Amino acid sequence: MGAIAAGLQACHVRIETACTQAGRPIGEVSLLAVSKTFPEEAVREAWCAGQTAFGESYVQEAVAKLEALRDLPLEWHFIGPIQSNKTRPVAERFDWVHGVDRMKIAERLSEARPAAMPALNVLIQVNVGGEASKSGVTPDEALPLARAVAGLPRLRLRGFMTIPRPDADSAAARAQFATLRRVFDAARAEGLAVDTLSMGMSDDLEAAILEGSTLVRVGTAIFGKRVYS
Ligand SMILES: *Cc1c(COP(=O)(O)O)cnc(C)c1O
Repeated sequence: MGAIAAGLQACHVRIETACTQAGRPIGEVSLLAVSKTFPEEAVREAWCAGQTAFGESYVQEAVAKLEALRDLPLEWHFIGPIQSNKTRPVAERFDWVHGVDRMKIAERLSEARPAAMPALNVLIQVNVGGEASKSGVTPDEALPLARAVAGLPRLRLRGFMTIPRPDADSAAARAQFATLRRVFDAARAEGLAVDTLSMGMSDDLEAAILEGSTLVRVGTAIFGKRVYS
């Protein structure tokens, strides 16, 4: 077995173990393979091992990679920060966007989403750790933005996404995931049709699953260490 297939298999085992510990059905948590900085061949290898959903963070890199991989029926998630002048390529090529934190970006995505494509799945990014430098709305701002985004044509609000503070130990990360879970529960309680909680990465997917994650975004544990040029 190649290293990527082995990495995927190890992730599935971790997800299953965490689901069992949380008393949740295994099918509730899906795995997004974060392929940013890795070449087209790495994605092909993961696809051969059964992986179909991939995440990218940089528009220019992603556009070239998606083009090269058009022959495969893959699901693409844009998980990086979106600048307003880059909304068009994202709206035209991706299936999901995880980092929406402003109405202006949501409106531009909605306008640019081609009518022939299904609605673009959108997650609101919430900054649960209160870091000044991180994108995302505060937990208090998340529901008003979610309501507004849910009203836009060509978008389908699916839920929320977060990245905990990098300095968080596992207890602190878990508390931050729990904050996002409360936002998600409140959205459902008021009738928003959300079903996705995107939280958990290579180092903290167990804590995220214990707090209700439905989608973990894993790069390093599948593809190895990233090298930025
Ligand atoms: C890069 C990235 C990941 C993957 O992180 P790993 O620690 O390599 O698993 C997950 N989510 C986002 C938003 C990312 O930018």
